[in-house]
Amino acid sequence: MLERIRIVLIGTSHPGNIGGVARAMHNMGLADLALVAPRCEIITQDSISRASGADHLLHQASVHATLEEAVTDCTLAVGASARSRTLPWPMLTPREVADRLPGECQTPDSRVALVFGREDSGLTNAELQRCHAHVHIPTNADFSSLNLAAAVQVLAYECRMAWLSQQGAAPVPDANDELALVTHEELERYFEHLERTLITIEFHDPAQPRQLMARLRRLYLRARPEKMEMNILRGILSATEKAAGK
Ligand code: SAH
Repeated sequence: MLERIRIVLIGTSHPGNIGGVARAMHNMGLADLALVAPRCEIITQDSISRASGADHLLHQASVHATLEEAVTDCTLAVGASARSRTLPWPMLTPREVADRLPGECQTPDSRVALVFGREDSGLTNAELQRCHAHVHIPTNADFSSLNLAAAVQVLAYECRMAWLSQQGAAPVPDANDELALVTHEELERYFEHLERTLITIEFHDPAQPRQLMARLRRLYLRARPEKMEMNILRGILSATEKAAGK
């Protein structure tokens, strides 16, 4: 289960924090670290010293230009946010995220991304809207922002606790292949197709978006479509385009 969990850091600006994250991950048995457009070097004296012996995670970290690239193969993405946002999204505590992990990580292809933001400005709304759910670490309301590595530590600890309680528990039954969930990439292709079709049939005016696509994203992400259902949805869009003569 732990090997199916990826920690994704977006736009990190302090090497020491990346090192601190590597240490937090290795302490809890996580190893998959992905960096999206880091704003600093990854291997520095600071990062190596803060990693305190977990620097192999720094060397094997993957580096990506965009969030989408880092989570292409993920079946569940959860964005960690210190603040609440304008369009409310399904909100979980770290423990609720962890409780879902044994079920989410059943198949060998499943991948869960826990996504963390920039030290100065967190995650953008667009980044958060690419996630199925958001996780907020309960804090003092007047002082809610944890250090990046500390935030990763809290989530990584909850992942380990969920994994530990799964050891010795009855094994989860084999997942049915037909119920395979879509990956992030398949969903993003669907959202592009959906937006194109809605523009074609003049339901959606990109000049007056009124958060339509964000609201639809929230709906589909909440539904967790399976591959079979996604084929049906794509088929409906193609038939709609055809009927509209495009
Ligand atoms: N100043 C930023 C927060 C930066 S902290 C802001 O106001 O948004 C860096 C990252 O750590 C955040 O983007 C988030 O992913 C994580 N983080 C910090 N505190 C958190 C909290 N209370 N709950 C969930 N994630 C948190």
